[in-house]
Amino acid sequence: MFYLRLFAILTINMETPKRDPLLRELKNYLIHLKDVGYTEIPCEAELFANVPQGTAQPSLSPNEMGKNKSLTAVQKELGDCTRCKLSEGRKNIVFGSGNPNADLVFVGEGPGADEDEQGLPFVGRSGKKLTEIIEKGMGLNREKDTYICNIVKCRPPGNRDPEPDEVSACNPFLIQQLGAIKPKVIVALGKPASSTLLGRTVPIVKERGTWHEYAGIKLMLTFHPSYLIRFYTLENRKAVHEDMKKVLQELRK
Ligand code: URA
Repeated sequence: MFYLRLFAILTINMETPKRDPLLRELKNYLIHLKDVGYTEIPCEAELFANVPQGTAQPSLSPNEMGKNKSLTAVQKELGDCTRCKLSEGRKNIVFGSGNPNADLVFVGEGPGADEDEQGLPFVGRSGKKLTEIIEKGMGLNREKDTYICNIVKCRPPGNRDPEPDEVSACNPFLIQQLGAIKPKVIVALGKPASSTLLGRTVPIVKERGTWHEYAGIKLMLTFHPSYLIRFYTLENRKAVHEDMKKVLQELRK
């Protein structure tokens, strides 16, 4: 398989981004990837193969998605999962947390070290940022008003991207989780979650702030909290603030 080293890309683009805003964005994104632990990215064909095209978007209604299963039943079916190789290195399955009847669900990428340790989603640094967005930014209560989960339930080693087989193995459980909760709004945090839920590669910088549908449920795309931490600019903070304002308006309808 052909891989591009992130170090090489960043070096090559060191000067150009100052002149070209698109390249600057690309460079920022690559720095973000490096920041969260990637050292290389798959090239061209493999890059697109990273998203299991067409497997994510269920053409079913939220009721059909969960077949009226409860979250507890979905978790029971997941069991002590060994359906993919991520099970080999995990300490704990991170199924999800929050209100099973929430109107609002946040979907992240996958557990990090803190989450793996505690068995809970978003409890590390990006979790603090997400809680801040929910509680200070939106005036909601994280535990009472939201449910939070990830596209994969076990920690990818070194915080690498979840691989297509891992996303595919976990996807039935994400679908059933969302079907069991039947929220009014789903928020996809970052590119991998957005791409998985939409079943295509999503250019997140371009598409954040836009509404989509996931099996009849409103879906908003926004930046991942770790991206916000890495690029703590007024522009990015404003962007997430705007996205969350749209979500609140939708929740109040
Ligand atoms: N990042 C994620 O995408 N999910 C978590 O649970 C924690 C960090």
